[in-house]
Amino acid sequence: MDDRTLSPHARDLDLGAVRHDWTRDEVRALFALPFPELIFRAQCIHRMHFDPTEVQISTLLSIKTGGCPEDCAYCPQSARYDTGVKAEKLMSLDAVLAEARAAKDAGASRFCMGAAWREPKDRDLDQVCAMVAGVKALGLETCATLGMLTPEQAHRLKASGLDYYNHNLDTSPEHYGAIITTRTYRDRLDTLGHVRAAGIHVCCGGIVGMGEDLEARVGMIATLASLPEHPESVPINMLVKVAGTPLAHAGALDPLDFVRTVAVARICMPKSVVRLSAGREDMGEETQALCFLAGANSIFYGPKLLTTPNPERDRDQRLLDKLGMVPME
Ligand code: SF4
Repeated sequence: MDDRTLSPHARDLDLGAVRHDWTRDEVRALFALPFPELIFRAQCIHRMHFDPTEVQISTLLSIKTGGCPEDCAYCPQSARYDTGVKAEKLMSLDAVLAEARAAKDAGASRFCMGAAWREPKDRDLDQVCAMVAGVKALGLETCATLGMLTPEQAHRLKASGLDYYNHNLDTSPEHYGAIITTRTYRDRLDTLGHVRAAGIHVCCGGIVGMGEDLEARVGMIATLASLPEHPESVPINMLVKVAGTPLAHAGALDPLDFVRTVAVARICMPKSVVRLSAGREDMGEETQALCFLAGANSIFYGPKLLTTPNPERDRDQRLLDKLGMVPME
């Protein structure tokens, strides 16, 4: 990029370099930038590594809903909260493959399968591995989110054709205890390490709007950006407040603070796909457009995200058409 196109602040930056030594002070300073400067830097970096008109499209299917023993304060699938979500059995292979075919026909390039488990039992993993192999054979990228994994389980998933594993850090290490008590931050980092060691791509991000302060958002991004390898996908979720969960009445997050979080994630993890994830149903088109300008380049397609609503496909298509954006091949 021609240096003359950059503002005086941005010209001083080693723009777009992949670093793993982000300090909290540096990340905090990014959050504190004037909004136009922050978005400008995020845009410059985004265009170094991606076509800004392209959006990667994933579909997420809940293959095992509800009844989870964990106590994640945002989650309607925890058995500890009365949210009206019924515990269901693991879906059949045929039913999952039918959903995957429909997702492919609707333009998805990646198919994510989510199960509400603390960790998979080995007999459940046999069935999930068959699903992964079947979805892969359809020509889709595969992703799963099944809770904590052992090294052996990660290797089995890899052998069955799993491309990505989602396991979010959710928030900063300091704020974590206010959100989840049934597993530790260290447990999460260990699972991410097992996934990496098995050669599976990592999908890992967090949730904002959970009553956290700015420092928690700083800590979350600094932790993600300091992992030995950046996650290939970084979902940034806006809390969906579900009645019956402890966070049902969390204070609203200013949409511009959400956009800032996306922009800082883009700057700190230049080559990662940043996914505008849960919470889009309640977001205006303007906020989503700002997120794309801030460097988001992936969305989930489909009417539901596990158990919470997501914009209908044609509403998404209209927005992409209005913005002149297209699905990433
Ligand atoms: S987020 Fe996952 S682990 Fe936590 S309660 Fe929900 S389904 Fe269980």
